[in-house]
Parts: sequence; C-alpha cells; structure tokens
Amino acid sequence: MQIKQITVYGIRLPLKQPFKIAYDTYEDIESILVRVESTSGEVGWGEAVVDQHVSGETWQAARQIITGELAPLLIGRPIDSIGTFHSMAEARIRHNPSAKAALDIALHDLLARHCKVPLYSLLGGRYHARLELPCVISMLAPEEMARQAREACERGYTSVKIKLGDAPALDVERIARVREAMAPGVALRVDANQGWSAKQALQVIRQAAPYQVEWFEQPVSIENLDALARVTQATEAVIMADEPIHGVRDMLEVVRRQAADMVNIKLMKSGGLHAARAMAEIGLAADISCQVGSMVESSVATLAGAHLAVAHCNIVANDMVGPAMIARDVADMPGNETHIELSDAPGLGIWIDEDRVRALSTFEDRID
Ligand SMILES: [Mg+2]
Repeated sequence: MQIKQITVYGIRLPLKQPFKIAYDTYEDIESILVRVESTSGEVGWGEAVVDQHVSGETWQAARQIITGELAPLLIGRPIDSIGTFHSMAEARIRHNPSAKAALDIALHDLLARHCKVPLYSLLGGRYHARLELPCVISMLAPEEMARQAREACERGYTSVKIKLGDAPALDVERIARVREAMAPGVALRVDANQGWSAKQALQVIRQAAPYQVEWFEQPVSIENLDALARVTQATEAVIMADEPIHGVRDMLEVVRRQAADMVNIKLMKSGGLHAARAMAEIGLAADISCQVGSMVESSVATLAGAHLAVAHCNIVANDMVGPAMIARDVADMPGNETHIELSDAPGLGIWIDEDRVRALSTFEDRID
C-alpha cells in the first residue's frame, strides 16, 4: 500500500487569551495540518507549528518546504516509509524541523491506523497510565500570576509552570507570590525562556531556594550551551534545557558537556517522533529525564507528543497545554483540563473534523 495524495492546510487557531512569554506575545496560532492518504483510502494527520525564535521557520516558509520539497518525496512510497522519509528529507533540505515533523506525525498516524493499533504501541507500548497536565501561566504581574496559580490548584492541577525571564528581581517576587498562593504538594516549575544571564540565573535560583521550585527551564540564551552547563554545574537546583536542544546531535552535546539535568523534547524541534524517540533513549542511557514540550499546538501534534510520552519511562513531564488555550480545535482531546488519558483507538486516537479544518483554513495545497 502506497501514499497517494497529501493535502496541506494553513489554519489559524484562535486563542482564548493572548499568550505572553519572554520573547513574544501571541494573539492566535498559525498552524499547518497535513492529511496523508493511502491508495486504499486510509488517512493520517500531522501538524507543524513554527516558532521563528527557535527553529527559524515561518508559517509560509514551512508551507513552501512541505508542499514544494518534502511532500512530493512521499507520493508513491510505501506507507511505512518513516525512516526512508527522514533520510530523503535530510538529503533534500537541512533544518526545517517543524515541516518535517508534520509529515513524520502523519506517517506515524497513518501506519498505526493501518495496523489498527494506538500510536503508542508503535513507539514501545504504554508505560504511563495517563499524563498529568501542568497549568502554564503567562508572564504577568506577580499578584495576577499568584491568583491564577491559586485557581489552578482549586481546579485540580498537580503542577503549575510559570513563565519568567524579563527581570530577575521581579521574577523572584513572582516565584514567591505564586508559591505562597499554591496548595502544598502541587509542583511549581519555572521557565525563563532564555531571559537571564548565567549569573542572574544563579542569583534567582539562590533567592528562590525557599520556594521549592521543581526545576528551572532554559534560564539562559539559546546561543550559549556553555552558560547553561555553568549554571547546571554550579547549583543543586534541577536545570532543564529547551530551546537549544533540537535533535539527536544536540542531545549528545548535553550529555557530553553535562549541560543540563533534564531536556525538553519537542516534536517541532526534533523533526517529529522518529528523532524524538532516539533523544529519549539517549536520555535514558545518560540519566537525563525528559519532558515532552509543545508549541501551542492543536490536538493533532499535541497527541503525537502524548503518545511519545506515555511510551517512555524517563519522560516524566509534559507541556501539552495547546488544546486548553485554543478556542476552536480541529478534534476533541481525550481526558479533561488537567490530564490526558489516551484510548486504545488506532493512530492518534481522534477523529479530525474536516469541515472545521476547512473553516479555519487560509490556504490549501494538494500534492499527488
Ligand atoms: Mg520552554
């Protein structure tokens, strides 16, 4: 059975409220959905959500790479061409991980649906029964962040992740106010999104010592893995690498340079599930636990990450908050606001509402 046709949809996902982090503010999310159809009419779905600050891709550029460069490689290929696709894609064009991830996810979904198994079965089988979701709080005034953290605890979240990174002294105050507002036993995690220098990071970490921060994510610049390694080695706090760590080679660098205690794997950085699995395995061998993060993605890419996460013992956290932030998604997520519980339905395990996809679309390309 072969791949017959690929459709590429550019969609805008409206957010419930603007999302503000250290380096940008988002009003809505530009996403690309790909629909891969086999000669027997089976369909797999994938998604690309770019972050130009992380991978250097833009929405329209990713469309051009998928439609013009990558999708044509797959037409007429057997539906299990995942490894072949990545070899061909690397030979065709460097980088562009989100564009590659969209097709990688769709191929995995298609193959799992064809095998009539949930995607996690192809990725090693279910290890975690369910995934607890964090409540992610935008970088705002300390009182407002504390109010939202209190509300999150009342709604039953088991972890709260706060976005920091614009001013170290204010960030310490945010940590203190948020921790004081939270129920005991709920985990507090910090993501500085590269906002501090190494010395500022060490100061913030020292001043935040009374507030039981579970880990600090990407305290320093994407450009400086040495600075990240310095912070990691100078503190007892747990440090997670995110933005600089894209694929397998970056993971090896973290191990070689002891640059972080944890790594945030994202399908939009790794080029999809194929490399993400290898990253998790390298982490396992090197005693590095992982989080599966996400951009603000629809249920499609979010669930691909969820299937990866349930299948790996050292993936201990996730960041799958996209669907909760989106006012109109293209499918219904399994689980509820505070957790994901994957069913044993085939593939990603969701039904994509194609009318909703078309209603949200601003462009549509077909490759056959
Ligand atoms: Mg992060």
